[in-house]
Amino acid sequence: MSFNITHLENEIIDQYLYDEHPTRPWIIGFSGGKDSTMLLQVVWNALKRIEPILLTRQIYVICNDTLVENPRIVKFINTTLRKIQKSANLNDFPIIVHETTPKLDDSFWVRLIGLGYPAPNKFYRWCTERLKIDPTTRFIKETASMNEEAIILLGTRSAESSNRAASIKKHEVKGQRLRKHLLPNVYVYAPIKDITTNELWQYLNQVPPPWGGNHKELVTLYRNANAGDCPLVIDDTTPSCGSSRFGCWTCTVVAKDKSMEGLIDNGEEWMQPLADIRNFLVETRDNPERYRQKERRNGTVKENLWGPYLFETRVEILRRILKAQKELEKTEGIELISHQEMVLIQFHWFRDLFFKTKVSEIYNKIYKYKFDMSKQEEKQKQESDLLRKSCKQEPKDVELIHNLLALQKTKTLKIKKRGLLDDIDSCIEQFIDESKEKKLSLSNDN
Ligand code: SF4
Repeated sequence: MSFNITHLENEIIDQYLYDEHPTRPWIIGFSGGKDSTMLLQVVWNALKRIEPILLTRQIYVICNDTLVENPRIVKFINTTLRKIQKSANLNDFPIIVHETTPKLDDSFWVRLIGLGYPAPNKFYRWCTERLKIDPTTRFIKETASMNEEAIILLGTRSAESSNRAASIKKHEVKGQRLRKHLLPNVYVYAPIKDITTNELWQYLNQVPPPWGGNHKELVTLYRNANAGDCPLVIDDTTPSCGSSRFGCWTCTVVAKDKSMEGLIDNGEEWMQPLADIRNFLVETRDNPERYRQKERRNGTVKENLWGPYLFETRVEILRRILKAQKELEKTEGIELISHQEMVLIQFHWFRDLFFKTKVSEIYNKIYKYKFDMSKQEEKQKQESDLLRKSCKQEPKDVELIHNLLALQKTKTLKIKKRGLLDDIDSCIEQFIDESKEKKLSLSNDN
């Protein structure tokens, strides 16, 4: 190998064993791409050289799922994560795999279809923070506060791009391995920052993953998708997503989703309906006069500034997703939008006084099946009416309370993505209870 792997492993061992804070955990950002795979592999092989009795520092391998990740990549990453955890358990390695996901109210579809946010572009990229930065930040903050400090290990490399090189340089403290992160008591360690892309591929081609298997699938995915990594985005110092990388299949920040096109051209034709939906999202974003309201959410109208999607646009997007999902569920077992998201979308539609079409009607028409949301819809409508009545004097408070309710909503989606009807009930109950409490406290205040 053209670089000294033993030297790199020694450095990691040194950091693991002789850190001034013996208990602060390591958090390894893992995206399943080439950089974080090499990072985890090098750390793992370094740990193997440490006496088991000294392996006392906890290591978390965190992977963020935006819930609109490319399904082909999700399948690959999930298999890899399972292998990592299984092998870590078998070898008594202090590794815990943890997946982070966005809050329900921050999900891509709830924002886009429920609230009418336009598909993102590079000027209005509302998604990265909600889908990527916030979920990982929550985990990092919690881990750091439980252990007083934490170190994040990232697979960032200076060779990736000149911007990344500049960013790494800017945050580097000369002579020190760790740099301070923006979050309090959190540090960043980038062990493979000086590895070039050629060296990285050379390493992955020669050294099999210590958790079993080989890198054949990873190499094939890169080849077929003509893609780069979509790395774990933890803040604005890490490379950003949305530039022809593996990432959300819904991503409209890139002009063309080359990775999805590459996969389709290389035999994954079943992804064509996803590409069609993505292209439709681009169309809705680029033709505001046809697809968006003139009035913004705060009620103002300004020239050349468009409001959220028209209700008809939101209905059409949901219709297309469900149509594609119906096919993909049968052939690939893939779910594109969860029931929880649909319930919350309906909730937002009621709040926006959209009563013409209901989510369950669209669903039932496509599935020719009775998805009974009548109970939830009735409760949502009651809550919406209650809220508006209680805020008659101050209509602006409706939005305020809405935001407060959304803020209090901390459940993530993934944990309960399937078999959800009971959860839907309790989710709505919770919304109503919170709303009643708000109403009570508002009337007491008055
Ligand atoms: S990949 Fe695209 S859609 Fe996903 S968070 Fe990044 S910019 Fe947003």
